[in-house]
Amino acid sequence: MSASHERDQLRHRQLVEELRRHEHAYYVLHRPVISDAEFDRLERELKDLEARHPDWVSADSPTQRVGGSVSEGFRSVRHTVPLMSLDNTYSPDEVKAFLARAEKQLPGEALEWTVEPKVDGLSISLRYEQGVFVQGATRGDGTTGDDVTSNLRTIRSLPLKLREAPALLELRGEIYLPLAGFRRLNAERESAGEEPFSNPRNAAAGSLKQLDPRITAQRPLALVSYGIGAVSGVEVPADQAGLLQWLGQLGLPIPEHVTVARSTDEVLHAISELDRIRRDFGYETDGAVVKLNRLSLRDRLGFTAKAPRWAMAYKYASEQAQTRLRSITVQVGRTGKLTPVAELEPVFLAGSTVARATLHNEEEIRRKDIRIGDQVVIEKAGEVIPAVIRSLPECRTGAEVLFTLPRTCPECGTPVTRESTADGEGVDWRCPNLDCPAQVRGRIGHWCSRGAMDIDGAGDVLVAQVVQQGLVRDVADLYRLRAPEVQDLERMGEKSAKNLIEAIEVSKSRDLWRLVFGLGILHVGAGAAKALARAFPDLDSLAAAGASQLCEVPDIGDVIARSVEEWFADPRNRDLIGRLRQAGLNLSSSTYRPPDVASTGPLSGKTFVLTGTLPSLSREAATAEIERRGGRVASSVSRKTDYVLAGAEPGSKIEKARQLGIPILSEADFVNLCS
Ligand code: AMP
Ligand code: ZN
Repeated sequence: MSASHERDQLRHRQLVEELRRHEHAYYVLHRPVISDAEFDRLERELKDLEARHPDWVSADSPTQRVGGSVSEGFRSVRHTVPLMSLDNTYSPDEVKAFLARAEKQLPGEALEWTVEPKVDGLSISLRYEQGVFVQGATRGDGTTGDDVTSNLRTIRSLPLKLREAPALLELRGEIYLPLAGFRRLNAERESAGEEPFSNPRNAAAGSLKQLDPRITAQRPLALVSYGIGAVSGVEVPADQAGLLQWLGQLGLPIPEHVTVARSTDEVLHAISELDRIRRDFGYETDGAVVKLNRLSLRDRLGFTAKAPRWAMAYKYASEQAQTRLRSITVQVGRTGKLTPVAELEPVFLAGSTVARATLHNEEEIRRKDIRIGDQVVIEKAGEVIPAVIRSLPECRTGAEVLFTLPRTCPECGTPVTRESTADGEGVDWRCPNLDCPAQVRGRIGHWCSRGAMDIDGAGDVLVAQVVQQGLVRDVADLYRLRAPEVQDLERMGEKSAKNLIEAIEVSKSRDLWRLVFGLGILHVGAGAAKALARAFPDLDSLAAAGASQLCEVPDIGDVIARSVEEWFADPRNRDLIGRLRQAGLNLSSSTYRPPDVASTGPLSGKTFVLTGTLPSLSREAATAEIERRGGRVASSVSRKTDYVLAGAEPGSKIEKARQLGIPILSEADFVNLCS
């Protein structure tokens, strides 16, 4: 072995250790010791080393968080120890009764209780073998859950390797979305014309249940672990407080603000103390969990069919207010979607005055039997837009009126059309008229916004005026505006008109991703636009790419790919691009990065698609094998696919491959091909 080879190997080991330490410092302890740039540099160095020495890559390397490809569904996992739910209550008296019952059943013991925040996410079971994360599953029905291992691997606070290596350690915990991440995710969704999530819990659930781990990787999910399932090969601490401390030492994120209470009063005090401070936490909590501290005593209390008798959840009532629903107005969005909005008698709720709330859609209004004039209960979920959660029919006077969404657009009078929502669970009503003033304003406003073309001075008021005056019908018209035309508009003058025209001029040279994002293509948020601008050298090559080529771009899934293809297929949009070109806008990408085709390796340049379950290789492992030999893995079969690697119970991809005459390999064929 050469000296340089040995040096590399040493450096590799160092980098893995170092990156693991920094991940822990940053994502678990929230106390980074190096800058983000330095972290990225170390990560790049490790990736480079591993690219040169693929056989050094292990499944628990910090570089192996996002692997695998799109799956067709989740496998079921049977839990070795069932995941139970918790008995819960809103009443302090029931907490007292619960504690008294335990004392009666355990006479002579001085009982201690832990009080932990109840983090609002989804419960999860994680399996570590010899300290290495091997599998994770959702609760499901408590006995069997979904195998979401690939998605869990993307969560940076989830260690791929523990600091000790017991033969088996099953952890119980919660996957949740911190509030900052929740707000960011919703802002991105709205700017991409997608429905925002109603609360962090739903957002976490939706993110963990993605079939494409690359999508999950973009969602800033986090883990907290508060318990254990099956364990072997290690001595477990005697009580909950010690257990949490031990889990922390293993490198796992554990609950903060845990109290050990020694009497009923102390338990109740800890519960109300948590309620006082929990609004400042960076995540949503919906209660406190009281657990018997000593683990050995728990067995003596046992379980009911659904929940342990040694723990209980006290739920905090969410902050609600009652007010009158004055009227329901209908907003028309950039994509033509009609959204009913509750206009409320102003009321104070959780720190601010609320006068409007979202009603989501017509079905929801009907389901909740909400009528105009009703007394309604409103609630803030995860500090987002307040929502109307129910009406109070007992307060009705008889003057209340049922609401029906208008069947014509309130802005332009065009009959609206019905479409099923992106998640397939409801219906949306849309104004199909692309010239609808509300949509025109929405599109132009989006184009000018900070996150897109960033045109200073082109706020909502100005946009509304230029549209109303007929000066601008689409974003290309902005580039024909002249100062004299705008200076007579309300709140304008010679100076501000000149500034505006200058700002519009400056926007001509913006990066391509801003332009692509600004076009307002459904599902294309800023992140997707950046990914596209990295993958294509200019707008023309992007426009010419079909959905299957788009699918092969990192971070671009089927839904986005189809939406982009459709958008560029529309003659009106092609005309718009022509006029933007004429106006002199920059259409080439300065962020374009030609794919570094791994030029070495027996599979160099070959594209694989995986389907079904292989006898011995997991998806991640198969992907790694392909990539380390210079090949790549795509999510769907197209003419560009070279091989389909198929295992047991393959999906529809195999049909497609047969139709296109693409060779289908078994695992054995694949191993042959590799050697
Ligand atoms: P529920 O879903 O209302 O029955 O509440 C029980 C759930 O609370 C558990 O299944 C966990 O997912 C969740 N939970 C959140 N934080 C904790 C915690 N600190 N200890 C135990 N369970 C928790
Ligand atoms: Zn309309």
